[in-house]
Amino acid sequence: MYVTIIGAGPIGCFAGYHLARAGHRVEIYENHAQIGSPIQCTGLLTHDFDQFNLPTESFLINTLQTIEVHSPGKHKLRIAQKEYLVCRIKFDTFFADLARREGAKIFVNHSFQRKEKEELIIKDSVNRVEKRVTPDIVIAADGPLSPTAKAYGLYHSQRENFYGIQATVEGVFEEGCYQAHFGNEVCPGLFAWIVPESATTARVGVATKQNTKYYFDKFMTERGYVAKAIQAGTIPVYDSKQMLRKDNCYVLGDASSFVKATTLGGLIPGLMQAQIVAKSIINDENVEQRVKSIRLRLGIHLWMHRIFEKFSDADWNRLIGYMSQPRIQRILEKHTRENPLPIMMKALMCEPRFLYFGKYLMYSNGE
Ligand SMILES: Cc1cc2nc3c(=O)[nH]c(=O)nc-3n(C[C@H](O)[C@H](O)[C@H](O)COP(=O)(O)OP(=O)(O)OC[C@H]3O[C@@H](n4cnc5c(N)ncnc54)[C@H](O)[C@@H]3O)c2cc1C
Repeated sequence: MYVTIIGAGPIGCFAGYHLARAGHRVEIYENHAQIGSPIQCTGLLTHDFDQFNLPTESFLINTLQTIEVHSPGKHKLRIAQKEYLVCRIKFDTFFADLARREGAKIFVNHSFQRKEKEELIIKDSVNRVEKRVTPDIVIAADGPLSPTAKAYGLYHSQRENFYGIQATVEGVFEEGCYQAHFGNEVCPGLFAWIVPESATTARVGVATKQNTKYYFDKFMTERGYVAKAIQAGTIPVYDSKQMLRKDNCYVLGDASSFVKATTLGGLIPGLMQAQIVAKSIINDENVEQRVKSIRLRLGIHLWMHRIFEKFSDADWNRLIGYMSQPRIQRILEKHTRENPLPIMMKALMCEPRFLYFGKYLMYSNGE
């Protein structure tokens, strides 16, 4: 089969790697000149990344051991969790090389323009020419605003997005610990993060649906941080109605909104999805059947996000207070956020007062 993938992000390249490895002819088109650039990501991965059995040396910046959760009432909770911080240019390049080694061809400076019947029109921005391709299978892996998914009528019209702004700053940091700051004055609906690259440099950011710059400037100013470099980007909120396939087109990664709505982490769900979708194409299986377990996890994150959106600062203080109990902390240390179901079930059994937040369910449509 001839497969065209639009977008040489990690998710598109990982799908390309699996498809090329299975003997298919794979072409990946990327509109930027350099893979992974411009960076629009913090690059934090839970240790669920280990499931892919991939070497991390070429892109690993720091290994973190602790998450420090800050409540609006200045309460601190420390959770032991191993996490990886990666350089996105090197990370994306690693996945592109993986695909290339299996025979996939990657064309940079090539931008998907439009679809005309079965043909895709791709513009080579260096030579200023248009190329027409007619693949058997198209994969839209072109990020949160996915022009390809839109061209195939596969972009769910009610999708919501966060907008994230992040800076690299200098300071004094605990190298193995990243911070998550909650509260409506800090970052409504999500949290502000401080993720150390080293003891002297960190990635600091916020993501909100509105007024992101205001919350970013406030967080930076209050801590006296000066930005050495700034990155920003759109992050989709998981949409359970987003279809993954129409005709010969599949949608993957951010293009399909496969992102955890409580943390905006899209890399692990997207890589898992890429693996599954590639196998579904190879074996001609029903993709929706095969992604059900990822959809369940993302659906729980979305449901929690809908509740957190309604939280007052008092609710955050109460939630983080409950989480600080050693018996709950043990649960949080045993599981990663990739699969929230066991965390929720076990936490509710240990601490029935979590049901207090159920009052927000009646206003949450759950989706
Ligand atoms: C500020 C911020 C912080 C984040 N932090 C984290 C984090 O710590 N951990 C985490 O897991 N996730 C994080 N995310 C989310 C994460 O970046 C995405 O989930 C991830 O990049 C999705 O990968 P992807 O391959 O689907 O899409 P992308 O990485 O967006 O790749 C899509 C590619 O398609 C290309 N493209 C777009 N349009 C076209 C076109 N018309 N033609 C050709 N190519 C095209 C783009 O140039 C891009 O290279 C963050 C996002 C932001 C914005």
